[in-house]
Amino acid sequence: MPRKTRGLSSAPHSGSRIETAPVTVIGGGVAGLLVALRLAQGGHRVTLLEATDRVGGQLASQRVAGVELDAGAESFATRGTAVVALIEELGLGGDIVTPRPAPAWLHRARGPAVPLPAVGLLGIPAHPLASDVVRAIGLAGAWRARIDAVLPRSVGSRATTLGELVAARMGRSVLDGLVAPIARGVYSREPDDLALAVVSSTLLDRMREHGSLAAAVRELREAAPAGSLVAGLRGGMFRLADALADACRRSGVDIQTGVRADTLLPRGRVVLAAPTPGTDAGRPVTVVTLVMRTPLLDGAPRGSGVLVAAGSAVDARALTHLTAKWDWVAEAFAGAHAVRLSYDGAPDDPVGQALRDASTIFGVTLPGPLDSAVRTWHRPAPEPGDHELTRTGEPVAGSGLAAVVAHAETTAAAILTDSRPTATGERMGE
Ligand SMILES: Cc1cc2nc3c(=O)[nH]c(=O)nc-3n(C[C@H](O)[C@H](O)[C@H](O)COP(=O)(O)OP(=O)(O)OC[C@H]3O[C@@H](n4cnc5c(N)ncnc54)[C@H](O)[C@@H]3O)c2cc1C
Repeated sequence: MPRKTRGLSSAPHSGSRIETAPVTVIGGGVAGLLVALRLAQGGHRVTLLEATDRVGGQLASQRVAGVELDAGAESFATRGTAVVALIEELGLGGDIVTPRPAPAWLHRARGPAVPLPAVGLLGIPAHPLASDVVRAIGLAGAWRARIDAVLPRSVGSRATTLGELVAARMGRSVLDGLVAPIARGVYSREPDDLALAVVSSTLLDRMREHGSLAAAVRELREAAPAGSLVAGLRGGMFRLADALADACRRSGVDIQTGVRADTLLPRGRVVLAAPTPGTDAGRPVTVVTLVMRTPLLDGAPRGSGVLVAAGSAVDARALTHLTAKWDWVAEAFAGAHAVRLSYDGAPDDPVGQALRDASTIFGVTLPGPLDSAVRTWHRPAPEPGDHELTRTGEPVAGSGLAAVVAHAETTAAAILTDSRPTATGERMGE
């Protein structure tokens, strides 16, 4: 049972000592570990409190058929430089890998599965009349999307969610057929629940400027670095959390696991890198990993994986063919196949359901798995920022390692600037 702590106050602040202030970081996921590391490197005495018996949060490993695989995040978006810079700093730069260049597929509500249109952003097509778009959503849907080019620029310009913007500019076929499967598969949210500010800070501005959503997507795609939009770590993304925890310990961070902070006392400096204590546990999502030996999957018939449209017979919202996506996973399984299916909630019979869904998605009857693993996570709800408290982590930074790492770096830098000694030797911001 995790210990509980009532007092999060740190030792009393002593006015003009040339000592840095003690800081308590609540939450030992990537965000908390990174803030703790940076503050310790900046000379602060740091205590990190983690509710469970291990740090890493949504980065964690699990053993399936004798191989350590990611149970949580298995890749990171390559937009921005924060994650790569951190991985390199931690000495893991040589293990950054990109997925095999296999396309992702779309399991549609009706009709056969199709490759996802090649050029787009969040499922929004850059070229609405491209043949792969027409194949995915039909000619009528594609023509409706094309109308975006001639609509007044005011249409959708006040949208606050991804769903609102896409519906207004390109219509329901693009929204339901292309954008919603990506929103569900990647963010486990409906497009109407995804704030534009969370998924892209610039999409709406570019749309307003061009007067066309497709033109905005084309510009953003052209500006994106060449190559894969995601990358991973050979051996698993969980190695990033392990390396961060090691670096924290070497820098003197006092990591206390099994300690759940249940109150926030306003004394001392506290950084909250977890959901607000006492809020609900978050939305459950379940990841089922199956390892199978079958020649039916040898040709990677659905590329690196599949996003599932609502209304199909499949309960999973996404499937990743891990051994088709990552070379290191294929090498580790030596001819067997590993697939990972994601569910909203917790299926009653997760392995049976995953096997049925994988068979439907691949269009074959798959054999029983050699081994399997099931992990249910609770994804935190977005929370508003807080003027009284320093906050970082997924509830305020947005979902995904690219957002979380960048936000934690900025938060730590602001605290370090804030607590730099003044001329009199006093420290600010405690
Ligand atoms: C199945 C899955 C797949 C994902 N895939 C990807 C992906 O491919 N790419 C990507 O970029 N991102 C992915 N993510 C999201 C990514 O993992 C998260 O956005 C990121 O790891 C969040 O880090 P964090 O430190 O903010 O939060 P968390 O990792 O959730 O860490 C918060 C920590 O705080 C602790 N805590 C909570 N309350 C308290 C308390 N009161 N007191 C003390 N400790 C507390 C928790 O136990 C936890 O360890 C995925 C997530 C999941 C679950």
